[in-house]
Amino acid sequence: TTPVLELVDLVAGYRTRNGLLGKRAEVRAVAGVNLAVQAGETVCLVGESGCGKSTVARTVVNLLRPSSGEVRFDGTDIATLGKSELKAMRRQVQIVFQDPFASLNPRMTVRELITEAWRIHPGIVEPADWDTEVTALLNRVGLNPGHASRYPSQFSGGQRQRICIARALSVRPRLIVCDEAVSALDVSIQAQILTLLKRLQDELGVAYLFITHDLGVVRHFADKVAVMHLGTIIESGDTSRIFEGPAHPYTQALLSAAPTVDDWKAEHGEEIMLRGDVPSPSRPPSGCRFHTRCWKAQDRCRAEEPELVHRDTDHPVACHYAAPDRTLTRR
Ligand code: SF4
Ligand code: MG
Repeated sequence: TTPVLELVDLVAGYRTRNGLLGKRAEVRAVAGVNLAVQAGETVCLVGESGCGKSTVARTVVNLLRPSSGEVRFDGTDIATLGKSELKAMRRQVQIVFQDPFASLNPRMTVRELITEAWRIHPGIVEPADWDTEVTALLNRVGLNPGHASRYPSQFSGGQRQRICIARALSVRPRLIVCDEAVSALDVSIQAQILTLLKRLQDELGVAYLFITHDLGVVRHFADKVAVMHLGTIIESGDTSRIFEGPAHPYTQALLSAAPTVDDWKAEHGEEIMLRGDVPSPSRPPSGCRFHTRCWKAQDRCRAEEPELVHRDTDHPVACHYAAPDRTLTRR
């Protein structure tokens, strides 16, 4: 079936002034990404800050135009859409950011924040039904409908994120991009929000592109995981497969650092510490982009960029020396 979202050879970035001469250069924050999200599923894009995952998010919600490649919604390249089609597509793809305080206008009540979207997209809910619908939405996300006339500042961080989720749901999207949506929250609140998102998916069939730096968060949440490093996806597959046998050294390092994966630490003694700084996406290392930090690197890695190849079914890995580490399955 046609995925609700498909990224095809996506290249995107930003232009920057280089040095004193002010020569303009393009930084390819996203350097050729392929990814598909099926209706009603959760795909998690994981990587360190600066890996390009937020740039992916911005192209998906059409805040940034790709340099090349395609963002397909329901099989159609969104660059080919006319104005009204684009507006319809925008309604169906919503985004929830890390900081709900920054994305909620502090001068608007919860009711106004939600009904604003119905003003922008008429025809979804008739004004006569707004009150009923606001009540239903707030109930759905676990907020007291009696608080609809309160302002964002009168809620806790977790509650504010529930407001953002209610607002995203108000236009009945098919896909919600969650860009570090739980990263700023306490662990217990994170779990509550993830549980809520899961329930909403079961009830409404909405798909998530869930973007995070924390692999631990996604273990029981994502159907599929794609690991991103310096603008490219270096490993992807079903969540259980990635967690049971991560095959790329970078994924192994991320997993070993995930706070929830205690078994790994018991097995390995400690985290795999990556040496060196994250290279700049404007000047990625030659060959394998991970070679400056990889403890398995050989001469070949400096010269030859590994392709994303399937090692076994639906588990592509970009590493010349990929080897699944199965220590996590021994439990
Ligand atoms: Fe490490 Fe080489 Fe594999 Fe890159 S290709 S991840 S440098 S072993
Ligand atoms: Mg980011």
